[in-house]
Amino acid sequence: MDLEKTLLRKVGEAIHRYRMIRDGDRVAVALSGGKDSATMLEALLLLQKRAPIDFSVCAFTVEQGKFLGPIAPLGEYLKARGIAWTYFRDAPSLRLLEEEPGHGCDLCSRYRRRAVYQIAADLGCNVIAFGHTADDFCEALLRNTMFTGKLSSLPPVTHSRNRDYRLIRPLVFVTEDITTAYAASCGVPVVPCGCSQRTGTVRRALRDLFGELERQHPHLKETMLSAMGNVDTSRLLDTRFLNLHGESAESETQTQELFPIVTEL
Ligand code: SF4
Repeated sequence: MDLEKTLLRKVGEAIHRYRMIRDGDRVAVALSGGKDSATMLEALLLLQKRAPIDFSVCAFTVEQGKFLGPIAPLGEYLKARGIAWTYFRDAPSLRLLEEEPGHGCDLCSRYRRRAVYQIAADLGCNVIAFGHTADDFCEALLRNTMFTGKLSSLPPVTHSRNRDYRLIRPLVFVTEDITTAYAASCGVPVVPCGCSQRTGTVRRALRDLFGELERQHPHLKETMLSAMGNVDTSRLLDTRFLNLHGESAESETQTQELFPIVTEL
């Protein structure tokens, strides 16, 4: 099937299902320098022309000192296409990198979030679009389940704490084989981030695991995405979702006799 058609169908489905974009919205697209966010920008610009609603799109990039190459080619590409782009050098992030080069993702993403909200405010945007893909959703599901003790992934749509901005992830159904091929077909200059080259990380291990399994099960990620939208809470262990009071008092007493609750060891 035509690559562009597939991309637009999947992005359109995400926007529609999760009510990501509404009439009159002004969408700021976070360009990370990679293939995913560049593909998202192209998809949103194409959908903007076809959509029955009216919304505008602009793009921005936050410089946190982690790009491995010059960002200028991306700026030239966007300028040639007439796309409004803001390049924001985030001074606190650059200072952080100098003072604590080994800082973790928590600090880095907190600084980035602050910068992103400031840019969106300056641009007069009410929606911010992030380029997390289906691959990211699947990895997050496994990572959170295995390492944080929480059965969760990423929100396809959410709001900033004070609800000033709607935060959307229109690539939730788009896998990275699509973004890789589409970005290459557009000739988007990709500027890698130093972190993407790291080895020995959980993220890398999960990517390798998916790569291995997908040789046998090519639709693995689609199935996982379906599972995230089809939760059977009665077969999980969260008591908030279990019908613990549906039984009669008598059978509850019997259960307690059979399985007394141990409060002290
Ligand atoms: S992976 Fe790198 S760029 Fe991303 S949050 Fe962590 S430190 Fe920041």
